[in-house]
Amino acid sequence: MSITARSACVFALYSPRQTGYRANPMSKPEPKPWILGIHAYQPGKSKSASGKPLVKLSANENPLGTSPAALEALAQARGEAATYPDPDSRALREAIASLHGLDPARVVCGTGSDELLNLAAQGFAGPGDEVLFSRFSFAVYDIAARRCGATPVEAPDRDFGTDVDALLGAVTERTRVVFLANPNNPTGTFLPPSEVARLHAGLPSDVLLVVDEAYGEYVDPALQSAAFALAAAHDNVLVTRTFSKIYGLAAERIGWATGAPSLIDVLNRIRGPFNVTISGQRAALAALGDQDFVRASRIHNAAERARLAEAVAALGNHGLSFSPSEANFLLVHFEGEVTAAQALEALGEAGYAVRHLPGQGLPRSLRITIGKTDDMARVIAALRTLCGEAA
Ligand SMILES: *Cc1c(COP(=O)(O)O)cnc(C)c1O
Repeated sequence: MSITARSACVFALYSPRQTGYRANPMSKPEPKPWILGIHAYQPGKSKSASGKPLVKLSANENPLGTSPAALEALAQARGEAATYPDPDSRALREAIASLHGLDPARVVCGTGSDELLNLAAQGFAGPGDEVLFSRFSFAVYDIAARRCGATPVEAPDRDFGTDVDALLGAVTERTRVVFLANPNNPTGTFLPPSEVARLHAGLPSDVLLVVDEAYGEYVDPALQSAAFALAAAHDNVLVTRTFSKIYGLAAERIGWATGAPSLIDVLNRIRGPFNVTISGQRAALAALGDQDFVRASRIHNAAERARLAEAVAALGNHGLSFSPSEANFLLVHFEGEVTAAQALEALGEAGYAVRHLPGQGLPRSLRITIGKTDDMARVIAALRTLCGEAA
């Protein structure tokens, strides 16, 4: 074949004419309609309206930082930028399994638990299916449902918390996945193990229950492993955890999930092949080994959360109240002369960014992450001053 004949042949192969289809030259790629239905996740702010840097009590990060052992592991991983990480996060999965008494074959790691929540929706739901969760729960569930073309369905809350009967009442033959954040974000409310078991028992066995325990390590240790037991005993329960909250490794993006092998297999098929970085795997491994840091973080959080709750209760005559929280934040309600918007501004002036979520149906509430002791004292003083009480 001559050079010209060959290039003519190649030209014919790749000519758009060959396909018999010519797009209108003015047309552009069309996003799927369900993607356009997504409102991008709004992260917590760290600057005031005027651009002043604020102490961030808006993203539920650990105010005590990160375990020194994990920081040391991060520093040591710095020289290894040219190599791919272990695609199976094997050492990390084994350490997670050993700490929690799980089978490592039933554990998968993710780029944050966010990746795993999205994959759980994508693996089991699609166009025409429903993904169910409670009103006032984690904003990522709506995004995860829409990303795969499924329909997000919200069940009514009970007093800002999860209402098991309302969730069960909202199940239809199209429901494929139910998300439960426990403790819940942004409300902090907690369903005891008996209620989670009742929710599971009421679901059809072909509906996947995802129990998102991003704040699981903040809960009373006696109640911490109930969802793991549920996931070990049933083929339709996935439990997710993260290193972003109590472990203080949000920047590294490491989460994990446990469930039946058939569920883990689905997530392994669709996750990123190298989804946890070398530094992330090493840091998480070291962080797991420093349970003293985890305990200290839990104790600090419980004490400061109780102090904030008490201070808010003392401002009850000004219309302030809170939802009971088992997490590392408190949802404070403003139903008197002082509004949530005014409190947001006053806290900003005092140097603190907290979370106002009118877009999630909570215009009269602020979610305040539990911070360092002196910061919490200033937050309380600012709230008292705003209400006209002595700081
Ligand atoms: C913070 C949070 C997560 C964790 O997200 P990562 O991707 O692991 O950082 C998951 N679920 C809830 C409810 C959260 O608040």
